[in-house]
Amino acid sequence: MADGYKKHFSGSYFFLGRNLSRMDYVSVLERTLVHNFLHFFVPALATWIFYRKDWRSSYIFLMLTMLVDLDHLIADPIFDPQRCSIGYHPLHSEIAITIFALMLIHKKLRIFGFGLLIHMSLDGLDCAWMASFSPGIPNS
Ligand SMILES: [Zn+2]
Repeated sequence: MADGYKKHFSGSYFFLGRNLSRMDYVSVLERTLVHNFLHFFVPALATWIFYRKDWRSSYIFLMLTMLVDLDHLIADPIFDPQRCSIGYHPLHSEIAITIFALMLIHKKLRIFGFGLLIHMSLDGLDCAWMASFSPGIPNS
């Protein structure tokens, strides 16, 4: 690897209790930004595809499913970009995800189940990205 590249990414960044290299800091920041953008964009896309007729209320219902992240409040620290939510937080457990899938059966609960499964998929994607693109950062 070219020395210039190494030099550009040298130095350490103290970020949420960790010393990260510049490259790791940028990758964590980038992943966090993309992840949060997707939490708004994918439900919007789903609304456009499946609920175009009443997109306003549908988008609100899908956004309400973000309240599932309230389970982060009982975790310490509350926010850690290097922690995989799936299987860690109670409302992100396998049992919870099974219940969200069962919500698809009931007509009135369907949109919430759908939103929650979108949420879990995006959190799962974040875990996969975290595992593959954060070299040098120990997973907690
Ligand atoms: Zn989540």
